Amino acid sequence: MADCPVCLAKKEDEDTLVSTIKTEDGMVVVPKEHVAILEQTPDDVVGAMFVKANLALLQMFETGIQGANLILNNGVTAGQALPHVALQLVERKENDGLFPLWQPKQLPEDAMNQIQEKMTEAIQNTDAPAEDKPKTESKPQTKNEEKKENAFIRRVFRRVP
Ligand SMILES: [Zn+2]
Repeated sequence: MADCPVCLAKKEDEDTLVSTIKTEDGMVVVPKEHVAILEQTPDDVVGAMFVKANLALLQMFETGIQGANLILNNGVTAGQALPHVALQLVERKENDGLFPLWQPKQLPEDAMNQIQEKMTEAIQNTDAPAEDKPKTESKPQTKNEEKKENAFIRRVFRRVP
């Protein structure tokens, strides 16, 4: 789209489906081709946006941020201000004062306990011998790759509230 500010913006890097744009408080992942709303975005592009966001977050966490909000305002009613789909990655640090009006919903104690039990079970299953794991991968992993993956999963779960 010729007059779309996202299409005209200088991109930080390019790949075949998505681009990133640095912002004051993080970055934005956008489809390379113009699409106005998420429902118009091809599935492979939606997937590429989240893969790119995930890789970017890994780099961002190395710089000392403590969390991130992924925001995709889809539609004017939802606060979409740009005419182009954009996944915002907002860097967060404790007591940074961002989103003071966006209070998290408080779950009852029993619901929190159920979530904790499920997460604990999931973490424990990552330590199970390979033969107990679901067969979801097509190629076998070496013990070293498996240890790296388990360490990664544990690191990710440590950031979970
Ligand atoms: Zn555009």
